[in-house]
Amino acid sequence: MKPEKFKSTCSYCGVGCGIVIHKDAKGKIKVEGDQDHPVNKGMLCSKGMNLHYVVEDKSDRLFFPQMRWGKDHPLERVDFDTALQRAAAVFRTFIKKYGPDSVGFYVSGQCLTEEYYLVNKLVKGYLGTNNLDTNSRLCMSSAVAGYNLTLGEDSVPVSYEDIELADCFLVAGANPAWCHPIIWRRIEAHKEKNPATKIIVIDPRKTQSCELADLHLQIFPGTDVVLLQAIGRCLIESGDIDWTFITEHTQGFEAYKNQVLEKSLEEASEICGVNKRDIKRAAAYIGESKGFLSLWAMGLNQSSDGVNKNLALIALNLITGHIGKPGSGPFSLTGQPNAMGGREVGGMSTLLSAHRKLSDPKHLKEVADFWGVESLPDKPGLTATQMIEAIEEDKLKAIWIICTNPIVSLPDSVRVKEALKKARFVVVQDISVNNEAIPYADLVLPAAGWAEKEGTMTNSERRISYLNKAVEAPGEALPDGEILIRFARQMGFSGFDFNGAEEVFCEHAALTKGTNIDISGLDYSYLKKTGTAQWPFIHPSDKPSKRLFEDKVFYNPDGKARILPSQYTSQNEAIDPDFPLILTTGRIRDQWHTMTRTGKVKKLGRHIPLPFLEIHPYDALERGIIEGQTVIVSGRRGQVKVHARLTKSIRQGVVFLPMHWGKILEEDFAKTNNLTGNSIDPISKQPDFKFSAVQVAKFSKP
Ligand code: SF4
Repeated sequence: MKPEKFKSTCSYCGVGCGIVIHKDAKGKIKVEGDQDHPVNKGMLCSKGMNLHYVVEDKSDRLFFPQMRWGKDHPLERVDFDTALQRAAAVFRTFIKKYGPDSVGFYVSGQCLTEEYYLVNKLVKGYLGTNNLDTNSRLCMSSAVAGYNLTLGEDSVPVSYEDIELADCFLVAGANPAWCHPIIWRRIEAHKEKNPATKIIVIDPRKTQSCELADLHLQIFPGTDVVLLQAIGRCLIESGDIDWTFITEHTQGFEAYKNQVLEKSLEEASEICGVNKRDIKRAAAYIGESKGFLSLWAMGLNQSSDGVNKNLALIALNLITGHIGKPGSGPFSLTGQPNAMGGREVGGMSTLLSAHRKLSDPKHLKEVADFWGVESLPDKPGLTATQMIEAIEEDKLKAIWIICTNPIVSLPDSVRVKEALKKARFVVVQDISVNNEAIPYADLVLPAAGWAEKEGTMTNSERRISYLNKAVEAPGEALPDGEILIRFARQMGFSGFDFNGAEEVFCEHAALTKGTNIDISGLDYSYLKKTGTAQWPFIHPSDKPSKRLFEDKVFYNPDGKARILPSQYTSQNEAIDPDFPLILTTGRIRDQWHTMTRTGKVKKLGRHIPLPFLEIHPYDALERGIIEGQTVIVSGRRGQVKVHARLTKSIRQGVVFLPMHWGKILEEDFAKTNNLTGNSIDPISKQPDFKFSAVQVAKFSKP
């Protein structure tokens, strides 16, 4: 075998770094950053650098399909045909007896765009239900709603190139130094060259991103709307707003102004726990800037006020006219590598293909005609947490889980586990035996992983990247797309005569024609050759779509953006003497999601080997807790056992747990989501992972 080289894309976070895979004469692979890639220019973070270990180590892989012949039977090896015949028979029976809404698919922002396209077409076009949701619901659905409501469509208006053109960054509810490291390295390098560049970080914790910040606003959890509106008030009062832009290109300023002026700066300062001087300073940095980039992630989105927080943040860009010009815009950082691709194909229960709207009969007909089906369901389907409720109520009889580990990642783990136990039929399609839903599965299907299949993904800046297949999947594992096609054929559906990822991509691209995300001019071979392209991409000779709205025409029917008032509802879980502390959850630098991949790379475990609770020394002292001591964190739904890490980096009254650990520690006691609840944003349906009431006590052996 000759050594070979393949270009690909990192499959961890939404930054979307380019990777070169080197395959040696023995078939072993290693990776390096792609020097020619516009995103990372050769750089990789610790997770990306170690991707090859995940592929090389097959100790945790699922090798063949397994099936239970009855609920109390063990899983037994079967072939793919038998497995998919059974799945088709069960799905057909449920749909016939209870209707199409009795089945659902729960997929992942780690699926390739072509896989997302196939599952969307299968579920909405052929099974006849919108019950297709994704773990991206947990990550950025509030940002989707925020963009829709203000800009008229879910459209990230900026590119990473704007980083080097900005002179003020507002980082809200994000720790890019750890969670989007290559973006952060670009910001660091930019600030090093341009020390006058201002960085403001809003976070209840003093994270690694604060090290670079000129101003850290250590907010009381959940009060972002109040703080962002107070900044808006200061900008209006100082006259640092763009009147021409507001008058000519927006609607709603008066209502916004009236709302932000309602609350005095003193009141705002008291609610959010940030002093007036710092609020004014943040406004001054923004007001004086020529390029203002706001960056946000889960800290805003994962909240029962997630959409309001997005509206309040986007309003700052709109009142200052910082959008559609170099170095400016509201930039939602997607967590997952292909959250954007999923949105493009309409792969959520509330979306339709190519940013069309489920509520628009014309759009429904366009997609139905394109797929050659009579009609599409127009009622939004079940979202991630609604699927769990529907299983509990025996409304959702069958759930097919692809590439996600819901018992660890969804809120209220104990409830999720009980629901899956109760479900009549569960399919788990994954690469790893460590998916904790497997014990409750009736059918387990082995999937191919990164580098074992080809396709595309879209990163945070609308950049579609090609991923090459470099190695064969182990055992009988198949690409997720191939499994979906085989299932569709077993169901007798005609629209699945695809021969590989290229044909699926071409069909998806054709369906975008005439929409704002039109990529009908993007040829697959062009993508394979160049590696990446940003949407829209109507013709290869067009200028690259680095920035949207440069003409100041937004996607609302009148072409104007909306500056919207936003409510601080404080619908958080009640704090009381039994549960007096606020738990916020998040990520650490070297682990990804539920550790089914990063957890097996020893090198990555060295950074932080075990889960921990961050607690303020005063809160620890009150409870007699010392550094490193084992503690029990209790909430209204469950408990977690970890060791305490005393730090003044966290606000008093607030504690922090990383979200990653699950079965990897072989005990349920490590799951952070034992403590999180069922509070969701009423518009985006995104769960709140940032505000749960807990108590902390020293662990004593029973
Ligand atoms: Fe991968 Fe994200 Fe790290 Fe880039 S920043 S190497 S995409 S994990």
